Amino acid sequence: MTSQPNTSETYDVVIVGGGIAGLTVAYQLGNQNVLLLEKEDICGGRTLSTNIGPYVFNQGAQMIPGGETNVAKLADELGMTRTLIDKTKTSTYMKGKFVAGSSDFRFLLGLPIPLFEKLKMAFGIIRMRSRYSGIVDKTPRSDDQKMQELSEKTLVERMNIRHPDVKAFWDSIAKSSSTLGAAEVAAFQPVNTFLHHAADEFFVEGGTVQLTRTLAEKTKARVETGAAVIEVVSTGSGATVRYEKNGTLHTVQAKKCVMAVPAPLALGVVQDLPDFKRVALEQCEYGTMSSAAFLVDRPSEEFFGEGVWRVPVVGMKTIGIGDPTFTFTDDMKRKDGRGLIRLYAGDDGSQTLQKMSDDDALDEFEKDLFEIFPTAPGRVLDRALKHWPHAICPWRVGRLNQINDIRAPHDNIHYCGDYTENSGLESAVLSAKRVVSELTSS
Ligand SMILES: Cc1cc2nc3c(=O)[nH]c(=O)nc-3n(C[C@H](O)[C@H](O)[C@H](O)COP(=O)(O)OP(=O)(O)OC[C@H]3O[C@@H](n4cnc5c(N)ncnc54)[C@H](O)[C@@H]3O)c2cc1C
Repeated sequence: MTSQPNTSETYDVVIVGGGIAGLTVAYQLGNQNVLLLEKEDICGGRTLSTNIGPYVFNQGAQMIPGGETNVAKLADELGMTRTLIDKTKTSTYMKGKFVAGSSDFRFLLGLPIPLFEKLKMAFGIIRMRSRYSGIVDKTPRSDDQKMQELSEKTLVERMNIRHPDVKAFWDSIAKSSSTLGAAEVAAFQPVNTFLHHAADEFFVEGGTVQLTRTLAEKTKARVETGAAVIEVVSTGSGATVRYEKNGTLHTVQAKKCVMAVPAPLALGVVQDLPDFKRVALEQCEYGTMSSAAFLVDRPSEEFFGEGVWRVPVVGMKTIGIGDPTFTFTDDMKRKDGRGLIRLYAGDDGSQTLQKMSDDDALDEFEKDLFEIFPTAPGRVLDRALKHWPHAICPWRVGRLNQINDIRAPHDNIHYCGDYTENSGLESAVLSAKRVVSELTSS
């Protein structure tokens, strides 16, 4: 690697990481003397999407929340078209049975678990909805009583889950929201995700990547892609940032630096971290995920049935299966005649898949696909795969006690990214708003 002693360039702010959090900071600062460094060849991080046939494979984030959320407002401000995912059924795949119901009651009736467990679960869900609906998409605060309740116990403890089949059901919800099982993750993340299932969710036309692509186009900051930051050193009055691009080492000075990368990556880059910050970031390990898409020779509804968008899968390597064509028009789908099916695997399953060749990993997903939909063999036209080594930061018991330290800046270095809130796009955008206010108020 050649070294370029280019220490003369000084920026008001250098942002490390071009996912939605870093890009939102860059966009909202509206300042030209800002440099954003992204290690991949394109910005986007966990929002990347590709096209398969006429459809979109959202490799990472599939949907954005609606209502008064910050990410919905940002999407509207950027001129994105968002389409309501008008799901009308709650569903799951469990013990060889595809269960779908147009109400919680009908759904629970169809679940292959004993009647007593259904009743217990129904009461648990009613209690969960009435007590915790207000926490969905809110910033986790250490002085919030409801947040404390959800943070101090695992989901199994909080919901008093005993029966193995009920535990397996909640494991699937817990893994999709956190990558951990229901006995490991604090109740907060899976409860938030479960309540989200019933809330309004939107597909961004063209794929979730349109959000980050548009942010990258509209920001006044200088955006460098293919620029991997290897070191951030506090200088007292600012920070020195070293990055590698095309085999050349570059050095720039920042009056303020924003780390907008997952916590384990920030730990590897920021030098001489104060003890409180190192301890806090070390709590934020990430779980992995893998997602796959299969283009099939008939419309997806023929497999899923009407009104079904997303299906938690219980007891398999695949933890969720969904219909990415859900918001496309019936007319378009009828004319095209093809469909798309998306599957994803959580931590342990994903880690096994990441050790395989892409073809073998896709074969594993395909086995699950054919078990869930026995009419699918012979119908696959194309397939695609994406692994996420840093997919989601699980919310472990006790994390709430660390949240202020996880967010806290030190020595002109600020921290944003989904892990500083909960997980998901709303968390990432919320964290960006907080950092913008830190930067503009100091
Ligand atoms: C499979 C999957 C499905 C999901 N589904 C949803 C969903 O439906 N809805 C939802 O709201 N959320 C979903 N999420 C979560 C959502 O994608 C994330 O919460 C969000 O995108 C995180 O954004 P971020 O900017 O914090 O981090 P990231 O998107 O991870 O951005 C960090 C960026 O930093 C870059 N980087 C890392 N190291 C360096 C370095 N040394 N130098 C320079 N750049 C660096 C990375 O390349 C990356 O671009 C999903 C995530 C996954 C993995």
